[in-house]
Amino acid sequence: MTKAWQDKNKQNNMRFLPHNVSVILLFCIVIFISCLVGILTRPVGLLATFWPANAIMLGMLLRISHARTLAGWIAAFCAYLAADLVTGASLTKAIILDGINLASVTAAYAVFSRLPARVIGLQHPASVPFLLLGSITGSLAGGIGGVFANPLLFGASARSGLQFWFVTELANYLAVLPLILSAPNPFSRQSAWHWPSPLQWGPFAALCLSCLAGTRIGGAGAIVFIVPALLWCGLSYSVFLTAVLTAASSYWALSQLVALYLPGGSQGSASFDLISYRLGVSFVALSPIMQAVTSSGRRSTIDHFKDAANRDSLTRIANRGAFLDRARILVSSGAVPSVMVMMDIDHFKRINDNYGHVVGDMVLVEFSRRVSGCLRDCDLFGRLGGEEFAIVIPECTLRQGHMIAERIRRAIGNEELTLADGRSIKVTASIGVALADLDQGSVTQLLEKADAALYAAKRNGRDRVEVFSRMPPAQPSRSAFHVHGSDA
Ligand code: GH3
Ligand code: MG
Ligand code: MG
Repeated sequence: MTKAWQDKNKQNNMRFLPHNVSVILLFCIVIFISCLVGILTRPVGLLATFWPANAIMLGMLLRISHARTLAGWIAAFCAYLAADLVTGASLTKAIILDGINLASVTAAYAVFSRLPARVIGLQHPASVPFLLLGSITGSLAGGIGGVFANPLLFGASARSGLQFWFVTELANYLAVLPLILSAPNPFSRQSAWHWPSPLQWGPFAALCLSCLAGTRIGGAGAIVFIVPALLWCGLSYSVFLTAVLTAASSYWALSQLVALYLPGGSQGSASFDLISYRLGVSFVALSPIMQAVTSSGRRSTIDHFKDAANRDSLTRIANRGAFLDRARILVSSGAVPSVMVMMDIDHFKRINDNYGHVVGDMVLVEFSRRVSGCLRDCDLFGRLGGEEFAIVIPECTLRQGHMIAERIRRAIGNEELTLADGRSIKVTASIGVALADLDQGSVTQLLEKADAALYAAKRNGRDRVEVFSRMPPAQPSRSAFHVHGSDA
């Protein structure tokens, strides 16, 4: 039994419920709570205008595979019903209203489920147009439900039912869905949350000031005050943070409009202006999100090209240029000395000649992988060219550097390298070690010293580590430096 398998087994035994049951339970609880939030914040006697449950359910369906099962759908419907029933709705009313909710989510899901993951995850320029398309589809289904439900439940017109349901659904989908779709995965180390640095608080401060100015000045035009600040947020922040700020300011703008148009009014008499403004707020909210999607896409393209420019395309470790740049910083910044290690694979030409260049390439990849396994995260490892590699080990004495180099030599030479095609090949490397003293010269001089030690290792029989010493040379060598070392 492997350790990984044992660990997994142990984890499963520690769980009270199977994984999919816990996920569906969580899904159900989240929907129940979001329904309660909608019901408890709605104006007395009216339908809720803040109704996040449908967008939250849709977002979770799109992100969590266990929720996309028959059990998930049934659990969600029960959560909707339970929230209505515990807050005093009759069973008939609850079934009609929640049937419309599910119809809306189903219609939107039918659109989103056909899209690629990058588009759904708001990482593609087409994400926002499709977000709009899916939300309009879901809202239309809700609106059609409103045509029947409004006369039946509230004695109001079918037309106002269509308007109210459509507009409310759309506003909620467009405000809440981007949040759920772009939220970092709490279980992934890669998507850890980063607070913006103090210098990046400018767009947020501008947004707060715009909301404050809008509240003070008032009027329908005040809701547009936030647009420049929101666009600035979209340019500066991640899609998720922009979605959070956009959702918060959209609800601020809607509350401004409700205060302006609905004081003591009834749902049925909601004016055309209010509906038009609500739609306007929803569409305005899309612009910063579109901005954030485009800027994050641009940032990740730049990161990708930077990475490609700094990495060796074969071994994926630092290439010569990146290695030398970072080595200069490491060697010059340390208050304590660091060590330079140079490695050269022995008789590599023979490997190419005997097995071919493709196998030679696989040897280089496996060699890099094995050396990386001997290093800490803070060590700098790079390919200088061909079958020559170098390492800068920061905060390290010559003695420690010698020991690490020995460990690497043994890790390479003691066990055959297993290549990607399953073949095993015996490979050895010669290694030179030199200390970057505090009174050291340039990285080039340091490399020359490590190279002199490496040359001595080759001369003394290969598969050896030689250490460059300050002692004056007894006999002139290639670099007129004295080296001493250890062999296999
Ligand atoms: P020594 O023990 O003295 O270092 O002998 P060597 O054969 O390793 O050294 P030499 O400099 O004679 O040959 C190095 C060979 O490495 C020659 C070159 O074709 C090969 N080489 C350089 N870059 C690559 C590469 O990216 N892939 C492959 N497969 N071979 C490469
Ligand atoms: Mg070689
Ligand atoms: Mg060489």
